[in-house]
Amino acid sequence: LFIAFEGGDGAGKSTQVALLRAAFEAAGRTVTVTRQPGGTPLGQQIRDMVLHGDHVSPRAEALLYAADKAQHADLFLRPALAAGDVVLTDRYTDSSVAYQGAGRDLGAQEIHDLNMWAVDQLVPDLTIVVDISAAEGRRRRGDVHDRLEAEGDAFHEAVRAHYLAMAQGNPQRYVVVDGTLAPDDIHAQVADRLRRMGVL
Ligand code: C5P
Repeated sequence: LFIAFEGGDGAGKSTQVALLRAAFEAAGRTVTVTRQPGGTPLGQQIRDMVLHGDHVSPRAEALLYAADKAQHADLFLRPALAAGDVVLTDRYTDSSVAYQGAGRDLGAQEIHDLNMWAVDQLVPDLTIVVDISAAEGRRRRGDVHDRLEAEGDAFHEAVRAHYLAMAQGNPQRYVVVDGTLAPDDIHAQVADRLRRMGVL
């Protein structure tokens, strides 16, 4: 079972990953928690380059993120899924479609295709979009930590709008939760969806 958490910076994805991990473990499942970018040693190097590098061009950024995903899918995600683990990832390919495709305006379709090639078509069983506004994300982040977080509200609203459009276009594979709710309430909605899928 492969589940991705998506959403803007500051949405509360990592809190939800931790709560869902606990729920699956309580149900006796082995859970692997990971993230993109940076879920492998090479990915960690890529993460440092792309988030803190000087003058990373938008296309170079897209390709670096795609390389992180290729490495992660091949060496980490596929083996964990083959072992029967529940795999929870904090960000996956939709981050690139939203941030590089929509936010950087490189073309959502092109970035989608690039990423699907990178991960050789490994698609999550469910993608959870934790939705918050750009203004709320900015408030929660406080001090800016990396290049992407330093982008303005227009960038983050474009990212958000694209996440919502992807979710709307494929309700079978996405659930959108309101990131301004209490963490436990968000988790309850996620758990409910997974129970209805018969996997929790
Ligand atoms: O969520 P996390 O802190 O791991 O994300 C790191 C940064 O990378 C965030 O600022 C996020 O906006 C950015 N990012 C991105 N494109 C991706 C994945 C992450 O711009 N494809």
